[in-house]
Order: sequence, then C-alpha cells, then structure tokens
Amino acid sequence: MKAEIISCGTELLLGHNIDTNAAFLSNSLSRIGIDVFYHTTVGDNKERLSSTIREALKRSDIVIITGGLGPTVDDITAGTLANVINKDLIFNRNIFKDIGVYFKKCNLKLPKSAVKQALIPRGADRLQNGVGTAPGLIIKHEKRYLIALPGPPRELIPMFDKGLLPHLKKLRTQNTLIKSRSIRLTGIPEIKVNEKIKALLELDAPTTVGIYAGLCEVELKITTKAQGDKKADANIKKIENKINKKLSEFIYGYGDETLESVTGELLIKKKKTISVAESCTGGLVSNLLTNIPGSSKYFVMGITAYSNKIKMSKLNIDKALLKKDGAVSKDVAKAMAENVRQLADTDIGLAVTGIAGPAGGTRKKPVGLVYISMVTRKKKLIKEFAFTGTREEIKLQTAKAALDLLRLNL
Ligand code: AMP
Ligand code: MG
Repeated sequence: MKAEIISCGTELLLGHNIDTNAAFLSNSLSRIGIDVFYHTTVGDNKERLSSTIREALKRSDIVIITGGLGPTVDDITAGTLANVINKDLIFNRNIFKDIGVYFKKCNLKLPKSAVKQALIPRGADRLQNGVGTAPGLIIKHEKRYLIALPGPPRELIPMFDKGLLPHLKKLRTQNTLIKSRSIRLTGIPEIKVNEKIKALLELDAPTTVGIYAGLCEVELKITTKAQGDKKADANIKKIENKINKKLSEFIYGYGDETLESVTGELLIKKKKTISVAESCTGGLVSNLLTNIPGSSKYFVMGITAYSNKIKMSKLNIDKALLKKDGAVSKDVAKAMAENVRQLADTDIGLAVTGIAGPAGGTRKKPVGLVYISMVTRKKKLIKEFAFTGTREEIKLQTAKAALDLLRLNL
C-alpha cells in the first residue's frame, strides 16, 4: 500500500512552524508496513490544495492531509476535499453536539462560527477528537482513501493512534512492516565505530544499519523490512548480536534509553548512594542524575563550587593543594570527589573540574581540559579529558563523561 502526506498551512511554508506531523505520520505508517513516497507542503490556498490532492490521488492509495480543519477562514481542508470529490458539505449533528460539549467544558459560549467544523463532505466518516473541536475525516473515493487530520500535534497524535491506526491496519493487504532498533554508544568516536563494523554499515535491504553521531555519543540504527513482527525481530537480533560482539564495551543502552537513565537504574539496582561536586558544569551532572524518576533513592547531595574560597570552605579542599596544582588538576578533582563523598556520607563521590572556555585557557591548561574523579570507599579513579567545542558543548561532554565513568565502574 502506498500513502502520501499533504501538510497544509501557510505557516509551514514560511518556515515559522516545523512540520512534525509529517514525520510522525511517516514513522507510524512505516511501522505498519505502509510505504510513504511523497510529502508535500501547501499553503492555505484552495486552488493549490485541490491540485495537490488531485495529483496525490493519481499515485497513492491513501492520502493523508493534516491541518486546515479549524473554524477560521484560512481552514479550507473540508471544503476543498468536498470540491475535489464532487460532493457537497453537509451538517453533521453528532459533531456539532460534541463541539457544544467541548465549549461547555471550557466554560465558553458557543460561537456562531463553530458550526463550520460540523460541515463535512457527504459520505465522509468522522474521527473523533478527544482533545479539541476539529473532527478528523475518512473518505473512500474510487478505491482510494482520503483522510484529513487536525494540525495541532496534540490533537493529531491521539486521533491517529486511537482512531485511524486500527482502521489502517485493516486496510493492509500484507503483513509487511518496517521496524527499527537503536544501539547507543559512548566513549568512542564515529570514525572508530565505522572501522569496526564497516561491513554491517554496507548492508543492503531488507536489513540496514545507519550510523548517526551526536555530541559524545554514536547511535547505530538497525532497520528491517519483514513479513510480521517475529521475522523483523529475528532480523534485527542477528545484526545486533554482531554489533554487540565488536562494540560491547562502548554500548550503554538501546532504544530510548539515555546515559542518565541507564546509570540511574544501575545505582538503584546496586543500592548505591552518590554525591557530586562540580566546578565546570554548573550543576549539570546533578541535573542529569536527578532527571530520572526515583533518583532521590541514590542522589544525596550536589555542590556546585566555582570559587576557590568555596572549594576550601565547603569542600574542605586544601589551600596549599589549590595553590600548588591549581583548581583544574588531577589531585583537586580527586579531593573534591573524596571530600563530597565524606561530607554527604555516600557510597560514591563524583567530581568534575575543568576549563569550559572560551576564555581562561593557557598553553599548559587549554580550554577543554577536564578532570573527572569517582571515589568510593575502596576505589579512587581519575581521568583526564581534552574536549573541544563551545562552552555549552564542553559542559555537556564533561557531564556525560562523568556519567559514563560512573556507569562503567558501578
Ligand atoms: P490548523 O489545523 O491548520 O488550524 O493548525 C493549527 C496549528 O497546528 C498550527 O498553527 C500549527 O501550530 C500546528 N500545525 C499545523 N500543521 C502542523 C504540522 N504539519 N506539524 C506541526 N504542527 C502543525
Ligand atoms: Mg492552519
């Protein structure tokens, strides 16, 4: 089955709003094996929308239009659809009743213009909107399906998932589907990943591997097209095992997992508590660690200590050590981790100190030089890093590297 998506809205053409609906719809359709061959964006203009719909009907079994179902004059989708299929707009009592209920719930008087959203092309089935007033539409037209969905993603997504998806699943002629799985790596640059799994990256259909580099992480995405869920999972597993064999030490998670979610889960599982001292990340390490629900089980204290005065008075760092090595040094990082651990009486102390830039670097200590230390009752680890990028990028790389050091040594 072939589908295409028409996004309607002048704001999209002007670049004021990003077309997230087309991405969502394409992703959802591919999961159930419906191919999407075209995305078209068109402004709120009757002639151009009609010709776009007519063109789409020539080549696709399913045409999904998003946007333009509102009550205002620039909302032209229902009228244009009626015109394209040569039907009139008729008043739908049930839709009007729902709109009335919606306005009452919001404690608002029903405006006269509300009647517009209850006018739909003759023969159209409606998709209920649980969030707003715009009804979705399904029209069967000469063996094709014309579908209209509201523009706001918070209305479109639940309408698609609850109302349209079950319908589309029934329309499929075969059980082909596309499935993807992400493998997330850190501590290794993209180019090294490429070297290690070059052959896998060159795979052809039905199963392929994509490589996507982010800041301090690399995502490998396995995508397969298969008959049924079981076959798709088997295809993915086969490649995943091969990747695991070559890169296991760098893999921190799969799918939607993040470095902080994986580390947080490990802390909970191992029943460890942690305190953090930060001197170049402004609390980012603590922030990431506490983004995880249930983090109060492991996170006890975070101190953001930028000035030497505070490093001495609050973290008990030796004045002589600060003078001898400077605040950005191995021994200061280690002392920060050790002392914050003792102050908070936690299993682990984690500390970062470095030069985030853009100013403040010297030849001996350039911008991007960072020391990270993790201290437990038995272990004292310290690592040196040389990061590059903007101030914010250096802060983020530092925080992620701190989480990774923690993850690998829990
Ligand atoms: P409409 O249904 O045309 O009244 O759209 C209402 C609002 O939904 C617009 O102002 C946008 O903020 C949003 N919207 C419309 N189309 C899209 C789209 N394709 N992707 C994301 N948001 C959209
Ligand atoms: Mg619009």
